[in-house]
Amino acid sequence: MAKKDNSPYQKGQEFLIKIEDFGNDGEGIGKIDGYTLFVKDAVIGDLVKVSIMKSKKNYAYAHLDEIIEPSPFRVDPPCPVSRACGGCQIQNLSYEKQLEFKKDKVRNNLIRLGGFDAEFIDGIMEPVIGMEDEKGEIPAYFRYRNKAQFPIGTDKNGMPIAGFYAGRTHSIIPVKDCLLGVEENQEILEIVLDHMKKNNIPAYNEETGRGIFRHVLIRKGFTSGEIMVCIVINSAGDNKKNKKNNRKEGLDTNGEYIKNQQNLISRLASIDGIKSISVNINNEKTNVILGRELHTIWGEDSIRDTLCGIEFSISPLSFYQVNPIQTEKLYNTAISYAGLTGKETVWDLYCGIGTISLSMARKAGHVYGVEVIPQAIDNAKENAVNNNIKNATFYVGKAEEVLPAFYEKKVIDTDDREKALHPEVIVVDPPRKGCDKDCLDTMLKMAPDRIVYVSCDSATLSRDLRILVDGGYELKRVRPCDMFPNTVHVETVVLLTRVN
Ligand code: SAH
Repeated sequence: MAKKDNSPYQKGQEFLIKIEDFGNDGEGIGKIDGYTLFVKDAVIGDLVKVSIMKSKKNYAYAHLDEIIEPSPFRVDPPCPVSRACGGCQIQNLSYEKQLEFKKDKVRNNLIRLGGFDAEFIDGIMEPVIGMEDEKGEIPAYFRYRNKAQFPIGTDKNGMPIAGFYAGRTHSIIPVKDCLLGVEENQEILEIVLDHMKKNNIPAYNEETGRGIFRHVLIRKGFTSGEIMVCIVINSAGDNKKNKKNNRKEGLDTNGEYIKNQQNLISRLASIDGIKSISVNINNEKTNVILGRELHTIWGEDSIRDTLCGIEFSISPLSFYQVNPIQTEKLYNTAISYAGLTGKETVWDLYCGIGTISLSMARKAGHVYGVEVIPQAIDNAKENAVNNNIKNATFYVGKAEEVLPAFYEKKVIDTDDREKALHPEVIVVDPPRKGCDKDCLDTMLKMAPDRIVYVSCDSATLSRDLRILVDGGYELKRVRPCDMFPNTVHVETVVLLTRVN
């Protein structure tokens, strides 16, 4: 029965298995005679009937046909599309077990990819910072996201839809009210879709590169109540030739980027809390959601929100943590790891709008922030001024370029050059791909007493920690923080200290 590629099982074969473990993407893992089956939507502890979908020599992907005995950790997902949508991979898992899954994920990556000893990691790892569960109909770990980016597409009948991509695909599952997001999302999307229908505005088609509306980005300041709506459009519209320059083709002129723009504006602006409406131009055939060109078409350029007692301005292009309740806990952990007494010089690399920089500036001597998005640095500088924080300086550029340029040439525009080049603390909070090697090398040369690494991907974190530890640092503390309940993502804060 063996197939050509040596897989011992064939498509369609059925098995009864117990789910014993989780994969990195939250899928259930079970075994038949030592052979591994990955079963999406199965939960650890389930007894399930599955059928083989795709088999390889040592493992196979199997379909969950039936739950014979549900796991005690299984819960009914409140969202009706939780299985089809790619956003929440583990909504069917009890929250306690979600936290355990996240802790294990970080732990396993540190051991397998970072090459750290299991006993050592178990000795230093602190419990996951979870979200508190308020007793209510929907627990506190729903509706925690302050931002959503809905792709716009077209359904079978040619009608515009908004929603989320089905797991690992680019087909849109219509969802207007995602349970992770704010309730206002639904009303905003309904207005946008209705405007498209009434004005015959086509949705963008990823395959052809034609059509106009691509995404709707909505962000709400949880403390301020201020909401921004940013509509991402392909301004070349249906005309391929106009891709580069003539962006008004097919659209109205005179600063109108959207057909009948005033009408859309007045409907959106009537929603409580809306403070900023903008259009972002993205004419590239790419997965990247936002283009560089941004036009405020109504209201303010940014919304405001308060974190750790500091008020922040946030523009649509700037990164801002999506779960403000957990963000404060994350930042407080990072601040405590930094061991600030009021005198320290701190670098905050990948600083975004300066949230960590400014929270630390109040407890440090001077903070230098580096960030690649110019609008985010504009926000950071504005935020420092608005909060009357004078001991923070911000630089635009890539961390792996700005830091070496300062360090190698020993030129930096500050009176405290020596201190800046030899800080007590360096904080990094890179995107998923982690830190660039040039950045890590320069950090090692600057030899701070402490490095605080905030990471949203424990795989690249583990890789980078190995480099820092081999470069003379000791891993002291590791604390995962659950910023993204119901998903498989986990944030981690790490403290490293220099070995003398
Ligand atoms: N610390 C901030 C932002 C963290 S997200 C906060 O907590 O809000 C990571 C940030 O790194 C983003 O703002 C992104 O724009 C920025 N970034 C990405 N690549 C970069 C690079 N090579 N150098 C500097 N910043 C970068």
